[in-house]
Amino acid sequence: MNIYRKILCLLSYRLMAKAMPDLASKDIILTFDDGPHPIYTEKILDLLKSHDIKAVFFVVGKNAQENNATLSRIIAEGHKVGNHTYSHIEITSLDKASQNDQIDKCQNVISSYVKYKIFRPPMGIVSIRSIIYLIKHHYHIILWNIDSKDYSSLSCTTIVDKLRERVKKKNIVLFHDDSALCYDVLEQIIPFWRSNGLIL
Ligand SMILES: [Zn+2]
Repeated sequence: MNIYRKILCLLSYRLMAKAMPDLASKDIILTFDDGPHPIYTEKILDLLKSHDIKAVFFVVGKNAQENNATLSRIIAEGHKVGNHTYSHIEITSLDKASQNDQIDKCQNVISSYVKYKIFRPPMGIVSIRSIIYLIKHHYHIILWNIDSKDYSSLSCTTIVDKLRERVKKKNIVLFHDDSALCYDVLEQIIPFWRSNGLIL
């Protein structure tokens, strides 16, 4: 595993609490990557609303441009939005100018909605060069503690069982709002987390 990724994962809740003090509590923090998606993100927003849960969406700039109404809804319903690059490319594979461009272009799409700057690299892979650029430009880099693996071929039941077992207080959980499986998993796990005091 990329060493920076490992360190950032370990520090993820602390970094998130620093970047987003209003999210810091005993709760776990739900994060959604790779959207907005015109169908799945909307369904997830309905579900979060019905449970009165605020989450963080790390959007892909290109998807946010194409699904602007969904991006507006995410903001209007009180969720946070972060930068997940413009076209979801592993930024360490790019030269310096292209890496910076991926970060800047996505931020340009969301900057009219949010003043804070939070960034999550695709696949959690960053280079020291991109870390320096991000810090210099006042970004907080946020990864996760628990990967739901809602993008994998695992069944919904297996994912829910693993999440029941593994997620503890002050964890950041990674989901993908462009995944059909994500909604099914959330529908089952949210009531469990709430009844166990992990979601207030
Ligand atoms: Zn991603």
